[in-house]
Amino acid sequence: MSATAPRVSFVSLGCPKALVDSERILTRLRAEGYEIARKHDGADLVVVNTCGFLDSARDESLSAIGTAMKENGKVIVTGCMGATPELIREKHPNVFAITGPQAYESVMAAVHEAAPPQHDPLVDLLPPQGIKLTPRHYAYLKISEGCNNRCTFCIIPALRGDLVSRPAADVLREAEKLAKAGVKEIMVISQDTSAYGVDVKYEASRFQDREVRAKFHDLAKELGDLGMWVRLHYVYPYPHVADVIPLMAEGKILPYLDIPFQHASPAVLKNMRRPAHGEKTLERIRGWRDACPDLAIRSTFIVGFPGETEDDFQMLLDWLDEAKIDRAGCFKYEPVAGARSNELGLAEVPQEVKESRWHRFMQRQQKISATQLQKKVGKRLPVIIDEANGGAGKGRTRYDAPEIDGAVHVSSRRPLRAGDIVTVKIERADAYDLYGQAV
Ligand code: SF4
Repeated sequence: MSATAPRVSFVSLGCPKALVDSERILTRLRAEGYEIARKHDGADLVVVNTCGFLDSARDESLSAIGTAMKENGKVIVTGCMGATPELIREKHPNVFAITGPQAYESVMAAVHEAAPPQHDPLVDLLPPQGIKLTPRHYAYLKISEGCNNRCTFCIIPALRGDLVSRPAADVLREAEKLAKAGVKEIMVISQDTSAYGVDVKYEASRFQDREVRAKFHDLAKELGDLGMWVRLHYVYPYPHVADVIPLMAEGKILPYLDIPFQHASPAVLKNMRRPAHGEKTLERIRGWRDACPDLAIRSTFIVGFPGETEDDFQMLLDWLDEAKIDRAGCFKYEPVAGARSNELGLAEVPQEVKESRWHRFMQRQQKISATQLQKKVGKRLPVIIDEANGGAGKGRTRYDAPEIDGAVHVSSRRPLRAGDIVTVKIERADAYDLYGQAV
C-alpha cells in the first residue's frame, strides 16, 4: 500500500452482529485503498461503529466517540447509535458525520468526503474473503438483518427494521470463500436465525448445481456440507427448531444452540411478548436432548423485568434446575429509551431487588454449569485451538462458542497451532473451563 494512502482508525463496539458490519466496512475501506491505522492520533479520520442497545452500551459508545474527538477530531459515527443522532450531537456536536445501522454506502460517502480515496493497483490484493476482525480460523456469518418479532424490551426492530434474509446462495458462497481461506468454524448470526427466509417465502436460489431454499434447516444442512464447524446463534424458540436437531445428532452441524429464553414465567414472557410457555419449552428441550444427547444449550435471561414478582423469579430458578442449560448469561432489566416495556404500566422492580435476583440467578446457574461441565471429565473431545504457545494452548470444544463460553486449557507433547482441531482427554473441570491433554 502506498505510504500516502489515507489512514482510517476504526473502533468496533457491540455484539457479534455489529462486528460483522465492521468487517464489511473495513473490507470496503481496504478495497478502496485506505490503510487501517492502529491509533487515532495521526490517522486521517476515525470511524466509530457504535452499539445503542442498552443505556450502558450507549455510554460506552459516547465515551469512545469522545476519545476519538480528543485524539483525532474527525469522527464518523455509525451503527445502532446512529439511529439517534440527536443523542450523539448533544454530547459531541462537532462529529463529522453520523450514519445509521447497516448504512454502508453512507459511511463510505462520509469517508470519501473526509479523506478522498487514492487509486492504487495494490487494492486488487485484497483477500477474497474480505477483512476479518476475528482470528483466521473462525468467522461470523450473517444470514439476515432485522427482526419481525416485537419483544417489548427490545428496540432492535425499531433500529434495524423488519427481517430481510439474504438469498441462500449468497450466504453459501460467502461461507465457501471462508472455507477456502482456511476458516474452520463459522458462527451463524442474525437477530432471529430460526426465522431465516420467512420474509422471502423460503425462495430458492442457485448454489453450485442445485437450488437451495432460504430455509433454516436447508441452509444449516448446506453449511454443514462445507466441512467447517457450524454453530447456530440467536435461535428464537420456535417449534421448528426441532428440525435442525437431527443435523446435530448426525454431526453435520455442531450440537450447540444459542437460544435466548429470557424467562420462564408465563406472566413475564407474556409481558415481554415472547413465545413459549415455560413448561412447553422444558418439553421441547427434553425432546431435543432425546434426539441429540450431547446437545449444549446456551441462553440469556432478563431478571427484574417490570412486574416480575418473587414467585415469577422463583419459577425461573426452578425452571433452570429442570432445563439444565449448559451456559447462561443474565441481564438486569434496563428501561431502554423507546422500549414499549416502559409503557406497559407495570410496577418497576427496585434496583436492589434486581441486584439480588441477578446474584441468586448466577449462583444457581453456576452450579448447574459446573455439574454439566463435570460430565465431560474423562471424555476424549475434539478441541479447536484458539491460542497456542508451543505445547500449551487454549481452545474450545464443540459445546463452546468463542468469547462467550468457556475454554479448554490444553497441554500437548507436539506443538499446537491456532486453528488446529485436536483430540483432548479431559482431565478436570472448574466452574467455567476444562483442562486436558492432547492425545
Ligand atoms: S427476537 Fe431479538 S431482536 Fe427480535 S425483537 Fe426480540 S429481542 Fe429484539
